[in-house]
Amino acid sequence: MAEPLYRRVVVKISGEYLAGSQGFGLDQATVDRIAGDLIAARELGTEIAVVVGGGNIVRGVEVSARGVSRPTGDTMGMLATVMNCLALEAAIERKGAPARTLSAFVMPEICELFTRSAAHKYLAEGRIVLLGGGTGNPFFTTDTTAVLRAAEIDAQAVLKATNVDGVYNADPKKDPSAKRFERLSHSQAIEGGYKVMDVTAFALARETSLPIIVFSIAEPGSIGAILEGRGHGTVVAG
Ligand code: UDP
Repeated sequence: MAEPLYRRVVVKISGEYLAGSQGFGLDQATVDRIAGDLIAARELGTEIAVVVGGGNIVRGVEVSARGVSRPTGDTMGMLATVMNCLALEAAIERKGAPARTLSAFVMPEICELFTRSAAHKYLAEGRIVLLGGGTGNPFFTTDTTAVLRAAEIDAQAVLKATNVDGVYNADPKKDPSAKRFERLSHSQAIEGGYKVMDVTAFALARETSLPIIVFSIAEPGSIGAILEGRGHGTVVAG
């Protein structure tokens, strides 16, 4: 078996995807399928940390549009990401693989606090590490969290699993002539204003020289395919 491309990565999975076709909450079949993909990717030899979004439960901006303060709405969103981590952790362990949730918030009855040393320890033990609670601060996103945590734990890349197979010059769902980029620099991704990730995430990746690979999670086995260098996506680097 060929060596995987990376020794350690952070995989970002949008919360919205975990809702499956029901559009809200957790679709168990989708959660189980992603758990299986993460285990298969771990079996290639890459250490895997996962940042999960919370958009299937709560998004801060949507809550604040209804009159709640934005920091409170964002805190609700961050707590939603912890619930998604617990759902994935349970699904991974039910399939017989070890996992561990670490949270940006102190919640000792539920899971351990994220620290670099805890993350290093559990990753080195071969566990899939779920990173919940976002950055722990309002006004950020889980895309930015993924880049931040990747830089903190010395990951070699961020694998941004989304519902499109890369970065396009227009929305491929609305414009059939939209073209997919094979490769972009961080600066090109920022200047192009491509919606796939927020500017803060791209800027931090540029600052920390972290490549981001944007690819579709809809394709079963796509995380492993990216790690083996036979995946289909856009590399944002350099
Ligand atoms: N969030 C936050 N700070 C962070 C990460 C997330 O306040 O560092 C909140 C924010 O309200 C966001 C919600 O958590 O809307 C869910 O995260 P996100 O929208 O990134 O999830 P996704 O779109 O990937 O499901």
